Amino acid sequence: MKLWEVSGPAFEKHPKAVAILPVGSIERHGNHLPLGTDTMVVMYLAERLRERLDVLVLPPIWYGSCRGLKDFPGTFDIEPNVLYNYVLNVMVEAARNGIHMLVTLNGHGGNTEILGVAAREAAFRTEMHVILLNWWSDLGIQAQKELFEAPGHAGEDETSVMLAIAPDTVKMSRAMDHVVSYPSMKIYSKKVERLIYPDALSGSATKASPEKGKSWLDAALDDLVRIIREAAKLLGINV
Ligand SMILES: [Zn+2]
Repeated sequence: MKLWEVSGPAFEKHPKAVAILPVGSIERHGNHLPLGTDTMVVMYLAERLRERLDVLVLPPIWYGSCRGLKDFPGTFDIEPNVLYNYVLNVMVEAARNGIHMLVTLNGHGGNTEILGVAAREAAFRTEMHVILLNWWSDLGIQAQKELFEAPGHAGEDETSVMLAIAPDTVKMSRAMDHVVSYPSMKIYSKKVERLIYPDALSGSATKASPEKGKSWLDAALDDLVRIIREAAKLLGINV
């Protein structure tokens, strides 16, 4: 069930133990991927999840925290405190509406820390259980390693996924390569951001294919189903 499509009485009757909250971004992804890539991918996973589990899908949060690529036209960067308060508010409202376990499915790296703090606070303020999954680093990891030589932001992996789910939005004639190794330490630096993403892209977009994207998404979906079942079992929730 999609929350935005049901009537009030249908919502009241529907089981709502488990809900999924997709969170993404509007951010430059090289010159070949749509600005909404991060949100489109997690919405796709949430849609596919509904074929396997009876979960409630909440409307996605389209805008995210995109400091690093703010200078590129098309990026909408939401202030961290605004995003934190907004996400926390949505989470608390999910709890008030009867959700027991909220699966926050994040599609964008810049959101990760903010979502983590919001999830912790929501779980503190309510009785709801909150799971945070960063899909690209928590789901289908073995497949990701095997499938892609040059992953990255708008790189081989992300471009493959978009070719699989929304091929009409991908302009492969503009795909580029910028293979760099990420620093081994966590470093916050504009200079490093500029070195890694001179064209709002890292990795090799030209190596992408829809087949590789589909394989990764299938593996990610299997992991997502398994994780939700495991968590539900641990928490004594029927899903
Ligand atoms: Zn992305």
